[in-house]
Amino acid sequence: MNTTIFFDYESTWGMPAAMPYDLASATTALLGVLGRHGARAVFNTTGKIVEEQPELITRIADAGHEIAIHGYDHTNPAHMTAADNRQFEADLAAVEARIVELTGTRPVGFRSPHLGAPRFFDAATYDIFERRGYAWASNREIRFVDEATSPLVIGRGDVIGLVGKLISRLGLDRVRLLRRAGFVLLNLDLVWRDRTRHSASRVANLVWLMRPAPFRRRQLTEIPVLSPLDVDFLSARVDPAKPSLQSEVDHMVNSLCRLFDEAREHFNLNFHDWTIGTSNRIEVLDRTVAYIAASGRARWVLAREGSIPRHA
Ligand SMILES: [Zn+2]
Repeated sequence: MNTTIFFDYESTWGMPAAMPYDLASATTALLGVLGRHGARAVFNTTGKIVEEQPELITRIADAGHEIAIHGYDHTNPAHMTAADNRQFEADLAAVEARIVELTGTRPVGFRSPHLGAPRFFDAATYDIFERRGYAWASNREIRFVDEATSPLVIGRGDVIGLVGKLISRLGLDRVRLLRRAGFVLLNLDLVWRDRTRHSASRVANLVWLMRPAPFRRRQLTEIPVLSPLDVDFLSARVDPAKPSLQSEVDHMVNSLCRLFDEAREHFNLNFHDWTIGTSNRIEVLDRTVAYIAASGRARWVLAREGSIPRHA
């Protein structure tokens, strides 16, 4: 099964609050784990990192990983005006050129900053990707039952936390059929709000929800987030210097491994450098990648190599 690891490699540009952070150390930790397990990954980088720490981009590419773009300075590309789009394309061109200088390879993928917000880009933004020969984009975030059963969310004591506690106590999340039903319910709004392709009907969207997978949108392969983001398990305000609770780490590993076991044709893991590359959270990457590698089912693929979309 095609399996891809994505890092939103954004450093302090994507952090919700400014915290002391050393990107070089986190990068060494991430590359160490990936190398040990023979896994390859996609690093979605901001233009700012390319400008300020170019040696890290070269190191990552030299280790066999893909470099894709995660915005220039992590600005949300939703609702762009014509002027925004002109700036967006100028930024892309500059960042692409610098990445080619550093790695010898032209980036062909874009992971949208603030994933959920734009859902899909507007037509003018797609025109830009088309002109520039992009092969894939990643915009779609999906909700998972396992986010609600995370110890962090349960501990919050709000409605979602209480529901998560109930699901966890009753063991409902261990029944596969209920997990699937919960997944469809959680994401039902996508049937109305998003379309898997321009002409897709609501029925087609519902069918897609039963078996979410990469799909074609215009000339791009849209690669949705097919497992929860690390920040959805561990808090978007995780402090790089402080460890997460062991129960949160364990829940995240168990959840990701189970989602991998349930996936059929394509699976991806989705992390942030400042979350997973720091403190005890590197353990999540290590244990999850070790499990996937040992399963014998995974074929590590880069997004630029083309994970074939099911919904052509
Ligand atoms: Zn980001």
